[in-house]
Amino acid sequence: MSVELPIYMDHNATTPVDPRVFEAMRPYFTEIFGNAASRGHSFGWAAEAAVDKARQQVASLLNARPDAIVWTSGATESNNLALKGVAGAHASKGRHIITQVTEHKAVLDCCKKLEKDGYEITWLGVDSLGRIDLDLLRDSIRRDTILVSIMWANNEIGTIQDVGTIGAMCRERGVLFHTDATQAVGKVAIDVAAENIDLLSMSGHKFYGPKGCGCLYVRNKPARVELTPVLDGGGHERGYRSGTINVPGVVGVGAACELAVSEMAVEVPRVRKLRDRLERGILEKVDGVRVNGDPASRLAHVTNVSFGGVGHDELLGSLYDIAVSTGSACTSASLETSYVLRALGVPDKLAGSSLRLSLGKRNTEEEVDFVIDRLATSIGKLRSLT
Ligand code: PMP
Repeated sequence: MSVELPIYMDHNATTPVDPRVFEAMRPYFTEIFGNAASRGHSFGWAAEAAVDKARQQVASLLNARPDAIVWTSGATESNNLALKGVAGAHASKGRHIITQVTEHKAVLDCCKKLEKDGYEITWLGVDSLGRIDLDLLRDSIRRDTILVSIMWANNEIGTIQDVGTIGAMCRERGVLFHTDATQAVGKVAIDVAAENIDLLSMSGHKFYGPKGCGCLYVRNKPARVELTPVLDGGGHERGYRSGTINVPGVVGVGAACELAVSEMAVEVPRVRKLRDRLERGILEKVDGVRVNGDPASRLAHVTNVSFGGVGHDELLGSLYDIAVSTGSACTSASLETSYVLRALGVPDKLAGSSLRLSLGKRNTEEEVDFVIDRLATSIGKLRSLT
């Protein structure tokens, strides 16, 4: 069977909208176009009903209460609201925040901003597999600590942190726990209640929903987590996030969550098999490959591999009809070596010849085999030139 080019293996950057999600969204652009905040007429009520249904769909995926979902424009905004929101509302308790060096820029840069504003940030390092040291985290919590922010799964290497243990630790010490679950939603089981999560960020476009729409889970029982809003305005979303709700987007995020609930159990093992085949094939056909991330606790659809002896630009140039990434889409515009790989202790030269391949719903065995052969040929050629 032949494959259709180009092949897309960059699902951590973004995913296509599932056609069923698109169909669910469609009427909300043209026919059911009301403003969900219009309380006085049926156009508004119809939009509000759709938004409420979507809240329920997201809540089911997370085991959350529907009224704990705050709609945002995506995970960058959710992370900003979580971090700056807690910093603003809880400054009277303390000004200390703990995070890790391999977070997404949307968390790292919020923390840097807060540092400039007089907050103290503890930046936890990671081991060679990308895991934080839980004892070190425990020892880092102080009386003035207001927030721990540790991502569920890393976007570049797929390492999954022990969120349950971190949540229990934070709850016991009375510290709020935020997790950026953008890459985990739809890929791993999430239970915000069991895992003692206070705040969780997610984004529609990473799991077959639309771009520009996501949410922040904000625990509201037994007590509501107070946040200072980032956007001031009409006081929508119980005062957490002002602005007219993106009704089609929200409907899409809800539909994508419902699909994840019903399909994850089949789709995750299918993609894991493909990823393992891809990784095995690369290791067999290319010498000197290092696989980055935690083999025991890693997203099923991701592999991050370092080749050595080839440069990023030549490598990507030779893979012109295969969409992969040299880091995260957010940092790959700058030709900097990945700060995530550097944090694992991967030498710069090796980190500079690394690829992230992230598989998705539409990838097939044939595509995987094509990519293996293509990588082996390209790397063989490039190495022979140096
Ligand atoms: N956090 C993580 C872990 C991500 O991978 C991304 C997307 N690259 C974001 C946050 C930002 O998400 P959004 O594109 O929805 O702003």
